Amino acid sequence: MARESASVLIRRALNCQCPVCGRGAIFRTHFKMNRECPRCHVVFWKDPGESLGAMYLDFAVAAAAFLVCWGLLALTRIPDTPQILILCTIAPAAVLLCYPMTRSAWTVLVYLSGGIDLPQLRAVRGGKKNP
Ligand SMILES: [Zn+2]
Repeated sequence: MARESASVLIRRALNCQCPVCGRGAIFRTHFKMNRECPRCHVVFWKDPGESLGAMYLDFAVAAAAFLVCWGLLALTRIPDTPQILILCTIAPAAVLLCYPMTRSAWTVLVYLSGGIDLPQLRAVRGGKKNP
């Protein structure tokens, strides 16, 4: 179960940081997600179907960008055809731009639902050498 506050988890999602330790990067590049945290080595998405959840967030981003842009274009006198072209460009561009953030937000949701196993603590023998 998550021990961090909601504000900490939201900040980690926005910064694309590991929801468990907050130090490891979730993404290697803009479109390449790490399988596990480079710092604490938790596996972000164990189930290959987890990307479907992030696609729901992509849809929400595309719909929001479309509706906001549509509302702004309604205030202008731009003809219909350029408006349609602008809207058809804005929605996919918003998805591509927000790609790491939607995956990061979905990773936090997976963490909150208990889908990320916390790293196991290992007992270390101290002071005595094994014979
Ligand atoms: Zn981590």
